[in-house]
Amino acid sequence: MKINIAIDGPSAAGKSTIADLLAARHGYIHLDTGAMYRCTAYKALQEGIALDDEEALGRMLQETKMKQTPDHRFFLDGQDVSEAIRHEEISRAASQVSRFAGVRRDLVKRQQEMASEKGYILDGRDIGTVVLPDAEVKIFLTASVQARARRRYEQDKEKGILTQTLEEVEHDIARRDDQDIHRQNSPLRAAADAVVIDTSDLSIPEVVERIDSYVQPWLKKGEQTHE
Ligand code: C5P
Repeated sequence: MKINIAIDGPSAAGKSTIADLLAARHGYIHLDTGAMYRCTAYKALQEGIALDDEEALGRMLQETKMKQTPDHRFFLDGQDVSEAIRHEEISRAASQVSRFAGVRRDLVKRQQEMASEKGYILDGRDIGTVVLPDAEVKIFLTASVQARARRRYEQDKEKGILTQTLEEVEHDIARRDDQDIHRQNSPLRAAADAVVIDTSDLSIPEVVERIDSYVQPWLKKGEQTHE
């Protein structure tokens, strides 16, 4: 039996890395829902659509194809935008467009359709609360702003896309947290039945093992029902 796993939390809490490792371990598919908001923002900027024009953004999405390949490349209307959507300008714009109910409705529907087969790990902000309220395992990953800023800074440096000082990265993360937490539609919060894990002082393998301890009982249960 396959289950669905929801991983929510603020920017740079390690959601994507952890979700990738868990997906590889169990042969699951990791869907990075943040990338879909990033693709939306990227296309709006390309097409000169105002980031606060909810109607135009909704119309644009009706004509938009998004695809994530198993090796984590993102295709927007057939174009590989995997690197382009990671720039800081796009992070900011994604947080702006994600405020709108119309945008969320469209993307949530796509996410639910994909995960309906089970065997998915979705990471985002509203997975446990809105997208997959029935997910068997719900995790809320968090960490201090300082710890997250340092991780994002090191990651960007490694990828060669660093354009900011550590202080600027920290400032941007704090601002994005504020926007995501205080928006009206699907604000960032832990589902009532989510397990909250603070990753500030944990290594990646420690977090993976901790989450796996919540996944294993479900997998065992599945084996028993098939005996
Ligand atoms: O996770 P990532 O940083 O790539 O997400 C970019 C932005 O997309 C977030 O700051 C948030 O505003 C938005 N987002 C969201 N709901 C999700 C995933 C991302 O609102 N499920």
